[in-house]
Amino acid sequence: MEIIHDIASIKQAIKKARQAGHTIGLVPTMGYLHEGHLSLLRQARADNQLVILSIFVNPLQFGVGEDYEEYPRDLTGDAAQAEKTGCHIIFAPTVKEMYPQGYNTFVDVEKLTDGLCGASRPGHFRGVTTVVAKLFNIVTPDRAYFGQKDAQQALVIQKMARDLNMDLDVIIMPIIREDDGQAMSSRNAYLSHEERKAAPILNHTLIQAASQIQTGERDATTIRAQIFQAISAEPLAAIDYISIVDATDLTDVIKIKGPTLIALAVRFGKTRLIDNIIVEV
Ligand code: AMP
Repeated sequence: MEIIHDIASIKQAIKKARQAGHTIGLVPTMGYLHEGHLSLLRQARADNQLVILSIFVNPLQFGVGEDYEEYPRDLTGDAAQAEKTGCHIIFAPTVKEMYPQGYNTFVDVEKLTDGLCGASRPGHFRGVTTVVAKLFNIVTPDRAYFGQKDAQQALVIQKMARDLNMDLDVIIMPIIREDDGQAMSSRNAYLSHEERKAAPILNHTLIQAASQIQTGERDATTIRAQIFQAISAEPLAAIDYISIVDATDLTDVIKIKGPTLIALAVRFGKTRLIDNIIVEV
């Protein structure tokens, strides 16, 4: 496995793979890999002849006062884990390589980014779509892999690819969880022992809400109030948002019908965690 830091060299490697007739799978990440990331890499390896893992903590998607500086980084550890999945190349550019002085072009997907994390993290998705569009242009993947863990991000990237006629498949993979139900996340590393013990309440509450819907409850306000109450009962949890939305266009749902996304963001101390579930009715 090779680690490449500059755009000219990765383009060269891509050109060689194309000449050999190889298909290319891209897994964009911010690194500090866990099983969630590795599941994307394994799928990419199964579907493509060349697998590229990008690792880039993208300053553009962090707001003022967010955790850009503290975000965990471990390229050596990541490389060891990625190699075991059969990944061929890690592309780990510097900030200067991606955004040289005078950089001025941004990609913005409207509407889908208005609510949920878009509302509580202004500018976040503009940063995400800009960097992912750049990665797509640099790597020209046949397929790119994203996790359902970031449900809104997954829809936003799919929409960007469609709207801008990008010639690739955007593949969404299921959420990988710890044994206690907590969604795997690089940010779990920030949690204190007590916060980590309390965090699975998010998954448990989402499962409870889904089962209430499955057994006939259709009123989103009632479901939301119950989730709110359950999470508020945990003294270490501070709710950022709880949203019940149409799973395809993220518009608010009043009466639940069709595929519905229940998504939430909750702070445990200084750590903001997100989780979600899709309920098919
Ligand atoms: P990140 O490094 O957090 O930006 O995540 C990189 C990719 O991995 C994104 O597409 C995430 O949705 C995905 N991902 C993160 N956590 C998980 C998880 N627990 N299960 C599945 N995919 C995940």
